[in-house]
Amino acid sequence: MSAIEVRRSARRRRTVSAYREGDRTVVLIPARMSKAEEQRWVTVMLDKLAAQESRRVLGDTELAERAGRLSAQYFDGRARPASVRWVTNQNTRWGSCTPAEGSIRLSHRLQGMPEYVVDYVLCHELAHLLVPGHGPDFWQLLEAYPRTERARGYLEGVVAAGRLPHVPGARGEHDA
Ligand SMILES: [Zn+2]
Repeated sequence: MSAIEVRRSARRRRTVSAYREGDRTVVLIPARMSKAEEQRWVTVMLDKLAAQESRRVLGDTELAERAGRLSAQYFDGRARPASVRWVTNQNTRWGSCTPAEGSIRLSHRLQGMPEYVVDYVLCHELAHLLVPGHGPDFWQLLEAYPRTERARGYLEGVVAAGRLPHVPGARGEHDA
């Protein structure tokens, strides 16, 4: 947990903002705000920053590096993808691969999901470079990645949530 610095500004009236500065987090608040309001806003802004940061998207180069690390960590480096990239034309699958080419593609819909979920899909496709299909061999190989079950549960939840009827005013709702 990094240090939090609250700066009060006489020029600010209602706006609150926050940003990272090195390893500290600066929260700017109006000078007249009470201690209780300050507390509340610091919490709100820290959540907001964390949410923004978790949405940060890996570039294709970072994605390839990550796949390399995962392969080394869980498959003794045996899965060696020639290319790993995001695609936007994949709406029914989270990831896919072409073993003959060593290419792995991840659906852009994974962007913004927790890292362990993206890592799971990468591991899944890496495992397919070694074992085609979803037989027992495949799942046994994938057991090396410790969060397989959790990530599958998360993705199932995303699919299920997409089928829910529209709930007006639901928290965290987006126009998707
Ligand atoms: Zn598969």
